[in-house]
Amino acid sequence: LQANKDNALRQASVSAGKVIILRNITEFKERDEAKSNFIATISHELKTPMSSIKMSLQLLNDERIGALNPEQQGLVSNIKSDCDRLLRISSELLDLSQVETGNLKLNISAIDPLKILDYAIDTVKFQAEQKEVKLEVQAATGLPQVHADTDKTAWVLVNLLSNALRYSHEKSRIIISVKAEASKLIFSVRDFGKGIDEQYQKRLFERYFRIPADGSSKSGTGLGLAISKEFIEAQNGQIWVESAIGEGSSFSFALPVG
Ligand code: ADP
Repeated sequence: LQANKDNALRQASVSAGKVIILRNITEFKERDEAKSNFIATISHELKTPMSSIKMSLQLLNDERIGALNPEQQGLVSNIKSDCDRLLRISSELLDLSQVETGNLKLNISAIDPLKILDYAIDTVKFQAEQKEVKLEVQAATGLPQVHADTDKTAWVLVNLLSNALRYSHEKSRIIISVKAEASKLIFSVRDFGKGIDEQYQKRLFERYFRIPADGSSKSGTGLGLAISKEFIEAQNGQIWVESAIGEGSSFSFALPVG
């Protein structure tokens, strides 16, 4: 009888434990979702005033308002770049919260890979000119269309190109390539910058990860590659890096052919 009682008690406490664990998981999920929704709202709310600050700053540069002296121009340009950084952080947080709450909406269609390439190159052209970095395209003719979300794929490519530019030496080059392999298209961005130590390569796609003591990453958020991974994997693709210190890095992603 005692043995049966012990057994019953043990079973009761095991199932009570399960209930507590389940309740904890549910609470945790709810709290996580509330946090993501909060982040989404805040980032969204911040975007409007920040965009308007940026517009006012652009107006300050308008000669009709009166010329600024060099010192004032310097201050305006500092505020503008901080403003850009805030806008970037808030839009990256917004993207991330959409991924976390499962609200990432994909608009998949068959698209021409060269169009995405052209758009991404156009977006970073100015940044490249400033550093005198040559952007070289390597793409075979007659590539098949890719089955993807145009905006999200272009976002990833722009992010990889901006990183490549940030970590490239002045007057160097970046190769942007696209090739077909099996039933996939592989996009790659190869720079000839300082490269990435092997011990950090796996961690690059983690949220908020930035290489320690990396001076050039001061202005970054450590979210770009984490979001890129989410965007590519949501489209049934893969993203990876190959790099060697002193030789540069190559970031690639593969997407299914449409
Ligand atoms: P962010 O650039 O905003 O810091 P990312 O997620 O895009 O965030 O990149 C994470 C880190 O990976 C960067 O801080 C940088 O240290 C490193 N990294 C990314 N791209 C390159 C690259 N092309 N060359 C060298 N390091 C890079």
